Amino acid sequence: MRMKVASFNSPYNIEIREVKVPTFGMNDLLVKVAYSGICGTDLHIFEGKNPFVSFPIIPGHEFAGVIKSFGSKVDDFSINEKVAINPNLSCKDQGYAVQDFCYYCKKNRPHFCLNWQAIGVTRNGGFAEYVVCPNTAAFRVPQEVSIKEAALMEPIACCLHGLKRLNIISEHTVLLIGAGPIGLLMILLIKSMFKSRIIVSETDNHRRNLATNLGADLIVNPDVENLGEIVKNETDGHGVDASIEAVGSPITALEAISLLNKGGKSLIFGVAEPEDVISLNLFKLYSNETSIFGSFTNPHENNESLEILRKKLIPTSSLVSHELTIGEVGQGLMLMKDEGSNINKILIKFE
Ligand SMILES: [Zn+2]
Ligand SMILES: [Zn+2]
Repeated sequence: MRMKVASFNSPYNIEIREVKVPTFGMNDLLVKVAYSGICGTDLHIFEGKNPFVSFPIIPGHEFAGVIKSFGSKVDDFSINEKVAINPNLSCKDQGYAVQDFCYYCKKNRPHFCLNWQAIGVTRNGGFAEYVVCPNTAAFRVPQEVSIKEAALMEPIACCLHGLKRLNIISEHTVLLIGAGPIGLLMILLIKSMFKSRIIVSETDNHRRNLATNLGADLIVNPDVENLGEIVKNETDGHGVDASIEAVGSPITALEAISLLNKGGKSLIFGVAEPEDVISLNLFKLYSNETSIFGSFTNPHENNESLEILRKKLIPTSSLVSHELTIGEVGQGLMLMKDEGSNINKILIKFE
């Protein structure tokens, strides 16, 4: 059997081609992909900037589909069942016995697994009609959740993992810097889960409009307005309780941290360049009890993510702006690169 894939052969070189459907092992599932999200990580891979990738690779780590076959040792899934895939594979997913788990998996922090592999990053992923994945990576999609919504399980889970660290409550004012697809998803989650006030800083017109439509309370264009002053005016001079940096730049990271109130917490969510650094005033960190968190993937949040989808807590239809075919992966990446384009989440839809 053959399948169509988007093979990234080298930086800036995508080839749509037909290859053999991969073979699978005793503990694996063969999943026919229905929807596959394009993410900033895929853009980094395309540009040759992802240090974990070796070319050629079929990216795509945000996908859901239907089980078409499975290995002889799989006994908890059936054919035609809908599943969403957790792309991050730790020791458990790779068949290690518990006593052989790595340093981090033994501590139940599988996202730092020393044997870490990721579907769509270090091994072939969902920009293909079929994907082989370990059965432990598959999450059964509840009946109330469409297979299209299920493709959002992974990005929602990533956001949930980050948000957990901020301990947001309804009385808080949250500053979000960067309203790309992930920032917009953050707005929906914060509004539905915590009902806090959100100030959004975003330079792009279209994204500012989207942020307003999705429930942001105050939108700032930092190109023409003074974000620092606006935040001060809006918080009686104190600063925000929590801030989320969703751009991936040292300038916005410094902004996110410096606009916190006492006890404020900042989440560095955007992916910066490996060499980026900022300098911070240590006395202020100490006396203001400032907390700064990173957030890397989602070790334990996939079920919670599916639960949010099942309960219809966020309007997913307003998140997805484009549905493209597998042949249009390159166009999708170009749309993401182009600041002025009308995009939110782009999904690849398979027949
Ligand atoms: Zn992603
Ligand atoms: Zn491990």
